[in-house]
Amino acid sequence: MPAASGADVLTADEIDLLKALPEESMIDLLERVATAATELESLRRQLATRWMVVHPCPVCGAEVIGRADKIYCRPRCRQLAYMERRGN
Ligand SMILES: [Zn+2]
Repeated sequence: MPAASGADVLTADEIDLLKALPEESMIDLLERVATAATELESLRRQLATRWMVVHPCPVCGAEVIGRADKIYCRPRCRQLAYMERRGN
């Protein structure tokens, strides 16, 4: 599955906000995000083996693990698909 880059996940405003943080806060924040991501990934795998469905995201092709009616892998892809349908 392709790894998401920061630019895919955060808006330009959010990235500016992060850059304005003092370095120590930034490092602390990044460590906490990394830990949370690892824990989430582990939980996601456990759930996937139990009752969730797995299929590729129609926008980016990443694994979508969730309820059967979950279509996109993340809000960004749902938004991109919506903009595509509107034709811009
Ligand atoms: Zn996607």
